[in-house]
Amino acid sequence: MSISSIIKEVKSAARPYELLELVVRLSSYHRIQGSRELLEASDFMRGFLEEASNEVSVEVFSYANPPKWLSPLVGWDLIDGEVRVTYPERGVLSSVKKASTAVAAHSPPGEFSGQVSYAESEDLIPDDVEVLLTSNRSLDMYFEAVRKGAKALLIYRRDAPPKGIPYIGLFPTPDEAYKMKAPVLCVPRGSAEKIKTLLGKGEKVIVEGFVKSTYSDPRELKIVMTEFGDGGREIHVTAHYCHPRGTVNDNVSGAATLLYVAKLLSKHSCEIARNLRGFRVRLVWVPEHYGSVALVKKLLDENVEILGALNLDMIGEKQALTNSVLNFIRPPVLLLSEFEAHAFRNFFTSLGSGWGLTTSITRKHQFRFELKSYEAGSDHDAYVVFGIPAVSLTNWPDKFYHTNLDSINKFSPSNALRITITALRAALTFEFNNQLKHYESFMRESEYFSLPKPIYRVRKDLYEQRRNCRFARELAGYPSPQYLLRKVKDVEVREEIKRFLSKASWAVTAYVIANTYSFCGLSVNDLRKSLVGELGIKVCERELDIVLKSLELLREIPLG
Ligand SMILES: [Zn+2]
Repeated sequence: MSISSIIKEVKSAARPYELLELVVRLSSYHRIQGSRELLEASDFMRGFLEEASNEVSVEVFSYANPPKWLSPLVGWDLIDGEVRVTYPERGVLSSVKKASTAVAAHSPPGEFSGQVSYAESEDLIPDDVEVLLTSNRSLDMYFEAVRKGAKALLIYRRDAPPKGIPYIGLFPTPDEAYKMKAPVLCVPRGSAEKIKTLLGKGEKVIVEGFVKSTYSDPRELKIVMTEFGDGGREIHVTAHYCHPRGTVNDNVSGAATLLYVAKLLSKHSCEIARNLRGFRVRLVWVPEHYGSVALVKKLLDENVEILGALNLDMIGEKQALTNSVLNFIRPPVLLLSEFEAHAFRNFFTSLGSGWGLTTSITRKHQFRFELKSYEAGSDHDAYVVFGIPAVSLTNWPDKFYHTNLDSINKFSPSNALRITITALRAALTFEFNNQLKHYESFMRESEYFSLPKPIYRVRKDLYEQRRNCRFARELAGYPSPQYLLRKVKDVEVREEIKRFLSKASWAVTAYVIANTYSFCGLSVNDLRKSLVGELGIKVCERELDIVLKSLELLREIPLG
């Protein structure tokens, strides 16, 4: 049986209600990085795959020694938490009983009561602060508030829906967690705005509440894998399985659907292996970044050749509800490959109606699908930082993203199945067959029409100068901003980087791209040019300077 007949069988065997059951089950774990329930979720996934007769392997790493440029993470478990207003009215602001996001991930335990003050930056926190309301979730803000006497922090998100209780992760190292004494709760934007209005009128708002949670030594981190075929060359399909209980599209959608399709495929594993001829397709479930970077590094150290990866993150959206578009996020132009061309062709033909200038890329069959230049933010980054082409399939934006409202009623099992099966078809049918030329001219043409002229010219150069780089992989890592800020001791430089990070939403994307490009021995000047071309936006000299300086600080060696 050919791969396409197998895929057809899988499609007709798929039952949306069975997938829904699996989604409910996986999202019932509070899968915060560093928590016990994250490990329990990995055990559940392993069991599910074993029962379906997949060959399963589990790779174990530790949050105590994460891969390069991620910080160690304390172990943490949540028991309960709530915050109530007691004056001027009485009422529950936020409670774990209603939403698992009500307590910020990695919040210390504690009880509190006091008057609320509001501030957005460290220097504006009043000296007599009791409970601080803010949308600034940095650890700097936390420690400054506590230094001034705050007994608790209440965090909201400015761009959340009015009733959305945001998912906030503090990600402290064990040393930091040891010093954290004031609990952190998350509140809906609507309530935060009401409180701000009252405070603005000079009125008093008093709250009380508690968090029950425990810290422990850093935990293990488990990567669950199953595979089809064998050989030294691999293609990966990845999904992160972390995030709060009850939330679905990010990313139970990717993790559960990949599990379910893996089960359906396992009935055909011998035939798939026969078809694959010389390479292996590995399905990978990871804790985001911590897991994927560690795994890719380990495989590369073992001389495994990874041809490419497809990442599934937020793939179940009912687009009309979430207002999202399915993005096909490309790797940087530097990593343009047959693999990317092949993946795109699969998605374009499955979700749209084929190649050609007569069709529009977006809004076909009422399903919004769009091609995007590289953006950092999920596990495709783990491949890109090592110079491996990886594509991410991600619905974006999603107005319920990272809030308790990312719930099962926004999840469409049929969309999730369609995207996951397409990703697997792309992975299982890959061969080098010269699609790159067509794909490249297709991309360049569409960029000619969509980019401002000066940026188009720089980007065109990237396609032309693209060369086979020898990646200095020992220098690679995932440039996490938290790690960078922990590392930089010079107060002025640190402030400058902090301002940049809070202003430029594309900062991490720029770090990843600059790091990948710097492997190729480009001069600092060419590096700047490449960065503008890749980002596709105007970037001023000063910002470019900060990107390159940050990278030098991370790598501890000069660029260029
Ligand atoms: Zn995600």
